Amino acid sequence: MAFAEKFQVREGQSVRLDDIDSGSTAGIEGKREAKEALEADLEAIHDLQYSLYAEGKQSLLIVLQARDAGGKDGTIRALSRGLNPQGCHVVSFKKPSSRELSHDFLWRVHVHAPPNGAVALFNRSHYEDVLVVRVKDLAPEPVWRARYEHINAFERLLTDHRTRVLKFFLHISPDEQLRRFAKRINDPLKQWKISEADYTERTHWDAYTEAFEEVLERCSPESAPWFVIPADKKWYRNFVIARIIREAMEGMSIRVPEPAVDLDDIRRRYLLAFDEANHVDGDPLVPVR
Ligand code: AMP
Ligand code: MG
Repeated sequence: MAFAEKFQVREGQSVRLDDIDSGSTAGIEGKREAKEALEADLEAIHDLQYSLYAEGKQSLLIVLQARDAGGKDGTIRALSRGLNPQGCHVVSFKKPSSRELSHDFLWRVHVHAPPNGAVALFNRSHYEDVLVVRVKDLAPEPVWRARYEHINAFERLLTDHRTRVLKFFLHISPDEQLRRFAKRINDPLKQWKISEADYTERTHWDAYTEAFEEVLERCSPESAPWFVIPADKKWYRNFVIARIIREAMEGMSIRVPEPAVDLDDIRRRYLLAFDEANHVDGDPLVPVR
């Protein structure tokens, strides 16, 4: 069984987040092993991204959703070590501007979809329009209800364009969230991040749970699946997400293009002066002047 399957929400499956252990570390011995595995996976992702870029025919979209302090920023930081910034972009979706609000909710999102050969990381996404908007009553129910279908259709448009869509819900417990807030309050470098909203949103914990569960249940086609990631332990979260991305990219049948020139011919014509006798193993070939 592929590793990813243990975390993937299946189409039609009902999801009870309370039944999923946010502190799980299943499938790996401990922190040290997870960190080693992460390094290997990031290296593999690096090469896969290079191939994706060289191929230039398909792309990858990674969507991250979580509650406040759920670890979206930390995940992006961890993944970025395996991604070349050339060919990768990160988009953080904030409260929509009045201009954005005067369009349909996908207008501001589509423009950031990854072009052929590229990877895009979404820190929040179009899912906010059925999460915060639902919980905070920012649009009438019939408006946000219609969006599940819009989202599925939109993501199908992307997958039909050969964009692999992977969506991660970082699942943390209320206690872990409070621990992270408490840490922030004592860290001069992180204090700026604190808003009263973080604490008031906590009073809507159950409403968010319900909203997330409906997203997971209604927007998990096999072609654009959600993964529920136990995220209380950062090292476990990073390890699992990197492994799932690696597996998915390996499954994309990425093909590095054939060389556009005859390599033997190039060798013969430009590299003949290379003196094999003086050649040290591992040295680059020296072209003729
Ligand atoms: P942060 O991710 O902490 O920088 O906060 C971004 C804020 O923007 C969060 O409070 C989100 O709920 C909010 N936000 C993002 N997208 C939307 C949206 N479509 N409608 C309303 N609020 C949003
Ligand atoms: Mg925030």
